[in-house]
Amino acid sequence: MKIRSSEMVVSAVNRNQYPTEGIPEIALVGRSNVGKSSTINTLLNRRNFARTSQTPGKTRTINFFLINNEFYFVDLPGYGYAKIAKSEKEKWGTIMERYLQDREELCAIFLLVDIRHEPTNDDVMMYEWIKHFGYNCVVIATKADKISRGQYQKHMSIIRKKLQLDKDEKIIPISSLKKTGVEDVWNEIVNQYNQ
Ligand code: GDP
Repeated sequence: MKIRSSEMVVSAVNRNQYPTEGIPEIALVGRSNVGKSSTINTLLNRRNFARTSQTPGKTRTINFFLINNEFYFVDLPGYGYAKIAKSEKEKWGTIMERYLQDREELCAIFLLVDIRHEPTNDDVMMYEWIKHFGYNCVVIATKADKISRGQYQKHMSIIRKKLQLDKDEKIIPISSLKKTGVEDVWNEIVNQYNQ
C-alpha cells in the first residue's frame, strides 16, 4: 500500500463529532500497551503520528486518521489498564458503545493482542463485543519479534482458542520493531474495506 497522505482529522468523544462523508472505516482496538500506536505508525511509515501512550489508559477519545483520502483508520481507546478507576472504565464503555452501535461506515475491527500471551479476559470480552455488534474481526498479533518464527503457529493457536475465533477469521503477526508483517496487514485492510 502506498501512503500518499495521512492526516489526523478529528479526536471525537460524541457522535456528532464523527466524520460524515461516508468514507469507509477500519478500527483498531486492544488493551493499553499492546502496541497499537506503534502499529499505526508502522503501517503509515510515520514516527510519533499516533501517539504512543505515556500514561496507559489515558486516551479517552476516538481518533480518526484519513488515509489517502480513501478510508479512515479509527484508533479506539485502549482497555485493560489495571489501575484505572471504575468511573473511567464506564466512560470507556460509553465512548466505545456510542461508536460501535450502528456505525455503517465501519468495515472491520482489527483486534490487537500480544503474540506472546494468551489473550486476557478483557480481550475475550472485546472480541465478543465486536461479534455482538456484527462487525468483521481480524486479529493482529503484535510484538512478533519477541518470539521466533518457529513459535508463531503455537502462539497463534493459543490466541485462536482463547478468543474462540471463527475458522475464517485471520490472525496476522506484525512487528513494529522489525517491520515484519506490514504488507500482510495492509493486504487485509484493503481486502476489508473493498468488500
Ligand atoms: P499502545 O498503548 O497500544 O499504543 O502501545 P504502544 O505502541 O505505545 O507500545 C507499548 C510498548 O510496546 C512500547 O514500549 C513500545 O516500544 C513496545 N512495542 C510496540 N510494538 C512493538 C514491537 O513490535 N516489538 C517490540 N519489541 N516492542 C514493541
